[in-house]
Amino acid sequence: MRCPFCFADETRVIDSRLADDGDSVRRRRECEVCSERFTTFERAELRLPQVIKSDSRRELFSEDKLRGGMTRALEKRPVDAEAVEKAVGRIRHKLLAGGDREVRSRDIGEWVMEELKDLDPVAYVRFASVYRSFQDLNAFREEVQRLQNEPTGESRRKQLKLIPDGDSPEGSPGDVPRRPGTGGSRR
Ligand SMILES: [Zn+2]
Repeated sequence: MRCPFCFADETRVIDSRLADDGDSVRRRRECEVCSERFTTFERAELRLPQVIKSDSRRELFSEDKLRGGMTRALEKRPVDAEAVEKAVGRIRHKLLAGGDREVRSRDIGEWVMEELKDLDPVAYVRFASVYRSFQDLNAFREEVQRLQNEPTGESRRKQLKLIPDGDSPEGSPGDVPRRPGTGGSRR
């Protein structure tokens, strides 16, 4: 580290201790050329990267937006909030650990889909079908907004009460009809 007084390259650490905040290391250094002493602080850089959107615009990563998008995909699905928080935490960790200054929104979308795949297949399909075709979280949000302005689940249920097991009239992706002739013997 260069000496700030004489700009010599040779300085040495004469003392090193944890700073009061506990998050940084305070070092006392001495220049080997002019013998001046100075202090440096070392701190982990935990800066979240900028998100590069599909139209090349940049915006700051927002954990709230990430959580919002996942929560909407998981609406009315049997997934508890703690599991969602853990998934958000894992994505945040990937962003921090990668150390990149910029991350493509598409990559974040893929991470979200990986997490949703583990959390709930219906939410995964909801997110993937919308996200994959829009390739942009803003367009996704607008679509979700549009869907939210449609009749609520409650009024839909009233309209569809003749359909049994009315929670999901369109069926879940797990409900693949069994092909005839495959025997159907399960072990
Ligand atoms: Zn010096």
